[in-house]
Amino acid sequence: MTIFVLPISVTKKLESLASKFWWNEDVTKRSIHWLRWSKLTNPKLEGGIGFKRMAELNLSLAAKQSWKLLNDTDSLWATTLKENFKLHHPTTRPENINLVADLTLPNSSSWNLDLIQETFSEEESKLILSIPIGHMNAADSLIWHYTNSGIYSAKSGYKLLTSNPGGDNSHLSSFWKSIWNLGGPPKLSCFIWRCATNSFVVQSNFQARNISAFATCKVCNQEDETLTHMLFHCPTSKQTWFASNLGIITQNMNFNSFIDWWIDVSDYLANASMKGQILRVAYICWNICLARYALIFHQKVVDPIATVRAALQGFTSHPTSCNQLSALRPSSSPTAKWLLPPSGR
Ligand SMILES: [Zn+2]
Repeated sequence: MTIFVLPISVTKKLESLASKFWWNEDVTKRSIHWLRWSKLTNPKLEGGIGFKRMAELNLSLAAKQSWKLLNDTDSLWATTLKENFKLHHPTTRPENINLVADLTLPNSSSWNLDLIQETFSEEESKLILSIPIGHMNAADSLIWHYTNSGIYSAKSGYKLLTSNPGGDNSHLSSFWKSIWNLGGPPKLSCFIWRCATNSFVVQSNFQARNISAFATCKVCNQEDETLTHMLFHCPTSKQTWFASNLGIITQNMNFNSFIDWWIDVSDYLANASMKGQILRVAYICWNICLARYALIFHQKVVDPIATVRAALQGFTSHPTSCNQLSALRPSSSPTAKWLLPPSGR
């Protein structure tokens, strides 16, 4: 991949295998892809997972050889390649113009206007003439515009190939950053990411894809099982949030998406000096799902108190959570001292 440009069929096949593996570890089985591959290849701070687009990755890596070829013109490998493959500069410019200095007036720092206009199109001439000429008398060299060092890197090449000038997801970048930096295990961040991208397995998503005719919640049989219903409006979920003692009320919640809810809860916790409790919130969401699966697939009832306890257990297993818990305790408890009991009668 770093030397040859692969056929598009090969890069597509590689992408297909990566996508299958993401949605189902057993790539030999059929699986539902809840999000398009193009979404998964977005950077993590733009709502994707950061998978690489294979064709673009291939080009950006192979371009490194071209860059070396253009810069190490006297090296043995470059000379051999040029001789064997009869390589020439891929340009239509006249052979007597190789350097920027060939386009300036002799012993001057001014463009050779006549030569430029004779050689290039009107548009190209305008672009060239708009470039100021330096006075440093430095030797000509190739500069890659997209890195600070001016040297080509595969990373900058890939970024250039995949950048989307029309798209701007920067307003949510702090949200995506917060879920990838939760401080819990990666599976928990992945779970929250799936909630945020509505790629979680709920009945309404099955129905939307014509996989199931019904979307009714299998726990309460009262409403359609959407992500919102599953996490917040199902009776046992409401009880779980109530029992969590975090002050998060789901009764009359009014939000358009999971992302809106998460941002609101993060703000609420930050204002209450409980910023780190967002990890506990993530664990509660996660354990609500586990409790539902236990009931649906194993007919095992998990009461809301046990769900809250399991979430707290997960939360306290992380070192960073200890400070958060101590901050929640009443200020008198850490300083309480043992006192001599009153003497008996
Ligand atoms: Zn329900």
